[in-house]
Amino acid sequence: MSNKQECSFCHATESIENPLIAGEGVYICSNCVISAYKILFGEEEQEEISTAEIAHTLYTPKEMYAMLSDYVIGQEEAKKTLSVAVYNHYKRIFREFEEEDETQISKSNVLLIGPTGSGKTLLAQTIAKFLNVPIAIADATNLTEAGYVGEDVENILTKLLMAADGDVERAEQGIVFIDEIDKIARMGENRSITRDVSGEGVQQALLKLIEGSVVNIPPKGGRKHPNQDFIQIDTTNILFVCGGAFDGLSDIVKRRMGSNTLGFGQEKRSKMESEDLLPLIESDDLVSYGLIPELIGRLHIFATLGKITKEAMVRILVEPKNSLVNQYQKLFAIDDVKLTFEEEALEQIAQKAIDRKTGARGLRSIMEEILLDIMYELPELEGYEVVITEDVVNEGAKPVYIKHKKTA
Ligand code: ADP
Repeated sequence: MSNKQECSFCHATESIENPLIAGEGVYICSNCVISAYKILFGEEEQEEISTAEIAHTLYTPKEMYAMLSDYVIGQEEAKKTLSVAVYNHYKRIFREFEEEDETQISKSNVLLIGPTGSGKTLLAQTIAKFLNVPIAIADATNLTEAGYVGEDVENILTKLLMAADGDVERAEQGIVFIDEIDKIARMGENRSITRDVSGEGVQQALLKLIEGSVVNIPPKGGRKHPNQDFIQIDTTNILFVCGGAFDGLSDIVKRRMGSNTLGFGQEKRSKMESEDLLPLIESDDLVSYGLIPELIGRLHIFATLGKITKEAMVRILVEPKNSLVNQYQKLFAIDDVKLTFEEEALEQIAQKAIDRKTGARGLRSIMEEILLDIMYELPELEGYEVVITEDVVNEGAKPVYIKHKKTA
């Protein structure tokens, strides 16, 4: 028995290319799993296990959380919940490969509730990238029941199959992210939703996919190519992540809690922001909102995301691995121009994004606007440092140019 974190068979230490799986007091590395597979099932069979299949069993929730934190700022609860859900999901799949008639562990699809531009799609995309599984992103508002004008629900699976380069097996272990799920809520008493088609039919159609079934899909998508052979996709192991802003949901929570909020005291109660209430969401609140109970039953892991604060906006600008500031600095460096931002400038950019009410999504277009004139002149600025000050952001003033290198 070894205490060191190394493969108990070949003594390799862990690396990204060769991660370790832990057993009780023992470890096995991914290379040894492959060798063992070859011994048991022969060379040819081995090729059928893709790296993705091995990869997703190996990352612990903590590893997934750490990786998400490289890209997603804040939203701690959502990162944690998603890491555990994804870990359980792929653990369940891997277990099915190994043991056939064990207790069925039901699928844990996830519902992310939070305002627009708070990182819901980013979370799903980042997980998919990390696990090397295909992802399809769909907008629930474009979906309609079969027979109506719009996109059939099955088209989501066509997208997933395309993301998997046509590999059905890979698609069957992918992730589907459905945004704006709140917009297909049934019309409630107090809420007006202008949909020509009732959202309930779409919810029923989605339910079929989410609960796990074999679906015939047109590989080229929809109705424009009527004469194609269908491909069957089994959705049992596809992880569905749904997202929505659920405006007004906090009022439903508040109403349900009614006298329970008394404990918070009159003053605190009136100050309770919608964000304080969202973590208290229960399934019944979502039913009151207009989601059908069967669908909620399949999306039983909820995570809430908060509004992006000004401070978080500034962090989003600079901290993620592919942050906007990093991206523009790289772009400028190609022309041998150094780009720097004063702290006040970053704060003003953050404030502008908050004013636009589109969450962190607004940051990119604000940056584009600020840097447009400078990028227009970029090839002539070789050897300079360009400093973006508060005045550049607020008043469109000229940036500070500092010559940092002699040009030939
Ligand atoms: P939504 O919650 O509406 O799905 P997105 O995930 O699409 O929002 O966010 C839009 C963009 O804003 C992302 O691509 C990312 O650049 C940025 N963003 C949003 N939230 C965060 C966050 N918490 N951390 C880092 N970037 C974020």
